[in-house]
Amino acid sequence: MAGVYVHIPFCARRCIYCGFYSTVRESEAARYVSAICLELEHRREYLRGATVSTVYFGGGTPSRLTPDQIGQVIDCIRVVFGLDDLIELTVECNPDDITPGYVTALRDYGVNRISMGVQTFNDDLLRFLGRRHTAAQAVEAVNICLKAGIENISIDLMYGLPGQTPDIQQNDLSVATDLPVRHISSYCLSYEENSPLDRMRSQKRVIPVDDDTCAAMYDRMCTHLRSAGFDHYEISNFCLPGFHSRHNSSYWDGTPYLGVGAGAHSYNGMSRQWNPDDLDAYMAAIEHGSPVYETERLTPKDLYNEKLMLSLRTAQGLNLQTLPAQDSLSVLQSAENLISKALLLYDNHHLRIPESQMFISDSIISTLFKD
Ligand code: SF4
Repeated sequence: MAGVYVHIPFCARRCIYCGFYSTVRESEAARYVSAICLELEHRREYLRGATVSTVYFGGGTPSRLTPDQIGQVIDCIRVVFGLDDLIELTVECNPDDITPGYVTALRDYGVNRISMGVQTFNDDLLRFLGRRHTAAQAVEAVNICLKAGIENISIDLMYGLPGQTPDIQQNDLSVATDLPVRHISSYCLSYEENSPLDRMRSQKRVIPVDDDTCAAMYDRMCTHLRSAGFDHYEISNFCLPGFHSRHNSSYWDGTPYLGVGAGAHSYNGMSRQWNPDDLDAYMAAIEHGSPVYETERLTPKDLYNEKLMLSLRTAQGLNLQTLPAQDSLSVLQSAENLISKALLLYDNHHLRIPESQMFISDSIISTLFKD
């Protein structure tokens, strides 16, 4: 099993908090799509014949492409890797790009999952963040997807937003769970270096929400989503039974994936590759047939730390039986103190972080790393 990730770096405009690679140069979209198809052909050996079961268009804003441009990339993936065993094909969309015609065309190309960046259902906060849509547009977009026959709908929410009172957050959660969405990802607002939001913080024009308040917001979210029937299957991800993201789950369980496009990362079990996050450099290199990615070979220590980091973020946790006996013993010894403080749970050969401690998971996991 393997996955293909396609990075579409175009955005109609930049949100103030964004730390992803994206550009507003949408006039380059047609040339970029051709470059992606060339890259897929160049890298046909990367997955060593593994079956592609998931495809994910992320960004940026993939819905800035036309359905035919997305279809062109899907057709290239089909020709290069085959898609007979595809189980999940996701396209990230901005709510205000969604129309019945757009979603129907995506569905006809085989898209069976839409992931929508909603962030909040509060119009003042949406304006503050620089989002293009309103709360009403987000609600309508979800209903349009469902009517077009795509029932596997995920939305992204944010918490820890300046000015997001408990009532506003509660409203965000209630609106979300009243909608026919099957999956919710929710992230705490971060102040990405060099983002406009980070500059506003330096100039004291924005006061970040303190850690204790963010932790309380995280607890409120977990409680609400659990009571609405959502499984909390990864630190930031919740789903109704059977609707976990297959593509993202494969990142967490070490499944190989090929990432194509500017700034995309790939992983094959032994090394990581990454393309330049520069549209011109990416397209020029691909068009000249030169290798465009850099590679980092992962040491046994890197692979061990990465496995700990990714698996302990999930509700299932780390299965010690998947580690060499010596590593299994040493991680259990390092975990003793954390287990005694109930920061980690150990049962049935699995170490896992209880939901009540998930908010501080990074600091728990890092104490288990090999130096
Ligand atoms: S739409 Fe997404 S990728 Fe584009 S600027 Fe906003 S947060 Fe960044």
